[in-house]
Amino acid sequence: MKAFVYQGPGKKALEDRPMPEIAAPTDAIVRIVKTTICGTDLHILKGDVPSCTPGRILGHEGIGVVESVGAAVTGFQPGDRVLVSCISSCGKCEYCRKGIYSHCTTGGWILGNRIDGTQAEYARTPYADTSLYHILTGVDEEALVMLSDILPTGFECGVLNGRVQPGTTIAIVGSGPIGLAALLTAQFYSPAEIIMIDFDDNRLETAKQFGATATINAADGKAVEKVLKMTGGRGVDTAIEAVGVPASFVTCEDIVAPGGIIANVGVHGTKVDLHLEHLWDRNISITTRLVDTVTTPMLLKIVQSRKVDPGILITHRFKLENILDAYETFVRAAETKALKVIIEA
Ligand SMILES: [Zn+2]
Ligand SMILES: [Zn+2]
Repeated sequence: MKAFVYQGPGKKALEDRPMPEIAAPTDAIVRIVKTTICGTDLHILKGDVPSCTPGRILGHEGIGVVESVGAAVTGFQPGDRVLVSCISSCGKCEYCRKGIYSHCTTGGWILGNRIDGTQAEYARTPYADTSLYHILTGVDEEALVMLSDILPTGFECGVLNGRVQPGTTIAIVGSGPIGLAALLTAQFYSPAEIIMIDFDDNRLETAKQFGATATINAADGKAVEKVLKMTGGRGVDTAIEAVGVPASFVTCEDIVAPGGIIANVGVHGTKVDLHLEHLWDRNISITTRLVDTVTTPMLLKIVQSRKVDPGILITHRFKLENILDAYETFVRAAETKALKVIIEA
């Protein structure tokens, strides 16, 4: 089968690989129908993710059709159409029992990281009963690909951790796919104001179409000043960090109102300054989280009933044989205006 393989920092290729096989009785083999590329895959390709070693098939998102199941799988059978979650959960360990699937002691984010992933014609998915989801027939399957990772990530790490409430004011720093996923799902709670901050006017324009009430291009270095002006000097109740660089987190520290929350979503690779000298008396909270995908069943219902359409995040489509072009398009997002690219296997 064809598979996209990380060959070491800066090296990648579409390779011919043997078909995956059932390795544990709880596994399923899924024929991948559609997958996508995540910002995290770009971190891996740069060599930033040591747990992902050269030779790994990348990809932790997708939908497909169950090809075969191990002897212990009872919830799925060959022919079932499924959503593959980016998080594999055993359902039994201490963390899974607490709903913290991302820290499952034998699972978590392993697909396309510690084990081969979904940017291939077939993938082995561990703990199928608790990590795959049935898809209703007749729904927009491309939109459902957004449920493997970005929609639950924006919702759980940004909106739920940020305790977005009716009438509150929120700012989302970063208008990429994850920031936009937080923007879409924040609106479940009817916040009064959603301010999007980015350097890219095209992405800010998209944010406006997706429901942002105000946008700020941070290129002039005056984003903090502008947010304070928009909020009568008090700042925002929820500041969602959706970039993963020190400057964007510090922006959140500067715009959070007394009693507010900084909800970090971004993947940070370097240290960030925490200005407790300004924040110690402001009654704020800071949250971090790796997506647990505990809200995936709820999000599936919302998307299947068309209350929200994450398919609007999809900008480009490629065949698996052209996945190198898909990566090129995704990497050059500022020029290509790419948000999410769909890859059809
Ligand atoms: Zn991802
Ligand atoms: Zn577990």
